Amino acid sequence: MVYCAGIIFAPMQKIGILGGGQLGKMLLQAAANYPVETFILENDANCPAAHLCHHFTKGDIKNFDAVYAFGKNLDAITIEIENVNVEALEKLSQEGVKVFPHPSVLKTIKNKILQKEYYKQHEIPSPEFIITKNRNDIQQALHLLPAVHKIGEGGYDGKGVQFIETEKDIEHGFEAPSVLEKMFPIEKEIAQMVAINEKGETALYPPVEMVFDPVLNLLNFQYCPASVAEKTRWKIEAIALSVVRNFKSPGLFAIEMFVDKEGNVMVNETAPRVHNSGHHTIEAHYCSQFDMLWRIMLGYPLGHTDAIVPSVMVNLLGAEGYQGPAVYEGLNELLQLENAFVHIYGKTQTKPGRKMGHVTILSHEKQELVHQAAKVKQLLTIKTD
Ligand code: ADP
Repeated sequence: MVYCAGIIFAPMQKIGILGGGQLGKMLLQAAANYPVETFILENDANCPAAHLCHHFTKGDIKNFDAVYAFGKNLDAITIEIENVNVEALEKLSQEGVKVFPHPSVLKTIKNKILQKEYYKQHEIPSPEFIITKNRNDIQQALHLLPAVHKIGEGGYDGKGVQFIETEKDIEHGFEAPSVLEKMFPIEKEIAQMVAINEKGETALYPPVEMVFDPVLNLLNFQYCPASVAEKTRWKIEAIALSVVRNFKSPGLFAIEMFVDKEGNVMVNETAPRVHNSGHHTIEAHYCSQFDMLWRIMLGYPLGHTDAIVPSVMVNLLGAEGYQGPAVYEGLNELLQLENAFVHIYGKTQTKPGRKMGHVTILSHEKQELVHQAAKVKQLLTIKTD
């Protein structure tokens, strides 16, 4: 890149994304504003991102050869999901391809055991835990109950999590290396997004407050900004910065945290990538999370993270009891809502709880946000014919 009196002459860069779901799709929408040639690697040729990139490669993001062959002629590569082949990314990184985030970060985050040890090593507050090899080990740690058993690798969207309230629940524990974590008295679940560039400069988005579906364990609504006391917010920001700085890697990070009634803050987990908790930034913030990641990868200045207007984001999930080609009942009504931005990801198949789209609503009035979010849920059902 050549700098001349504040003007950047940037050659077209070739940047690849591992995974072609909705996060990849929204990254590509933002890429259209920049001089970048985009590449997607994904097994499903009909995935949401397949038709927006310049080059689509059908292949397995978990396979060494597929990832290495995909990445070897690129300038940079990023991910939209952690479950990728890290060894191939390490080799690509050694050969000069920039990887966002660094493969070492992915290694730590992909495995909940390593992730928890990372927090402990860096004195980042996170619920007390022990490592278990099998469910028998839980018997030796009854003092931690009620607790949450989390499988080390392969869990996502609550699928690798079991609540162990009493000894009776131990039978539901995992027979694989896992973390047993003391239950935290959660009052609010918060996500804090942090951007960090190659110079180590950082930018923080306002924290968001997440409300989960208790049955599906999937994000239901998310308010921005989170309503937390100023002191709690400072803690959230300081902890999130500590998580990110210790990784020593550029990228975009979403740090999920718990807050209790007294304002104590604990880290639950970190996503080293664009994240569901940042969707609202597309319409509600000056610089979206997707725009921000391109700025980081292309070496441009970090964007402004301030909210233009408070927002609520509603995930559009596949309805219970329907599996097959998706039909969007109530979409016309939804599209007539004021202050609502509708995103349909274009997945042809629905299933219960599948993330099929999202809606962002903007308003200065919290009551209006609450009301409109409920209306979205009421208006749209994603089912099959
Ligand atoms: P996943 O990575 O699959 O989303 P999480 O580790 O985020 O799984 O856990 C899913 C949910 O379980 C969290 O959003 C939270 O509601 C609950 N949970 C996880 N850990 C704890 C804990 N230590 N105490 C209380 N609730 C927890």
